[in-house]
Amino acid sequence: MGNIRLSNVSKTFGTQEVIRDLNLNIEDGEFVVFVGPSGCGKSTLLRLIAGLEDVSDGRIEINGADVTDLAPARRGLSMVFQSYALYPHMSVRSNIAFPLRMAGLDKAAIDRKVAEAARVLNLTDYLTRKPRQLSGGQRQRVAIGRAIVREPTAFLFDEPLSNLDAALRVNMRLEISELHQQLGTTMIYVTHDQIEAMTMADKIVVLNKGVVEQVGSPMELYRTPANLFVAGFIGSPR
Ligand code: ADP
Ligand code: MG
Repeated sequence: MGNIRLSNVSKTFGTQEVIRDLNLNIEDGEFVVFVGPSGCGKSTLLRLIAGLEDVSDGRIEINGADVTDLAPARRGLSMVFQSYALYPHMSVRSNIAFPLRMAGLDKAAIDRKVAEAARVLNLTDYLTRKPRQLSGGQRQRVAIGRAIVREPTAFLFDEPLSNLDAALRVNMRLEISELHQQLGTTMIYVTHDQIEAMTMADKIVVLNKGVVEQVGSPMELYRTPANLFVAGFIGSPR
């Protein structure tokens, strides 16, 4: 189960209200994309869900439980960043296994989960390599592998492909979509790229200056944009 509900969530940095009285419901298994221009609050919203920032006001629930004051590690979510944050001195296997070792799993269980993640991500032949011996796309897959082995309630991606070149981005987009189909786990994906949003999302959340302009499927947003901002951003004909 991976239902996430935000109720009247606000976040203020100093005097700047970055997220304003935001309500959002994410259903179990959905692929939800937060899209909007740079600085509109996408990363902040994701970090609030992850618990990496505290809300200034409002409530966050995961599967009906109030997690507003819960530490990040206890929310059952896995986050993937654009900078892969891999350990350079460790093998691919050790990088993927790292969260499981921290959690104190036994070696047999770790080996099994790492093998399964490597299979899903086509990394089986690369487990003994170091990150520097991998391509950008492979490194990003290792970062995703590290997120997968924790079997999270939901995956949170913050512009995971923005460091990759255009061709690789298209490729990884498909891989992440396939991963979502295989796992069926809720995914929240932040991007400023309309095309990523339109091609990957079940549901798009269009953000502008800390408020939700519209929530809907790619087709709904394209056909019936709520306002000129959405139309302009999504590129629909309104
Ligand atoms: P996005 O990810 O959509 O580009 P962010 O969520 O990173 O936007 O930032 C939204 C706004 O909040 C920006 O104006 C940014 O400068 C500000 N902001 C983000 N994090 C902090 C912080 N830790 N302290 C102060 N201001 C911040
Ligand atoms: Mg950001």
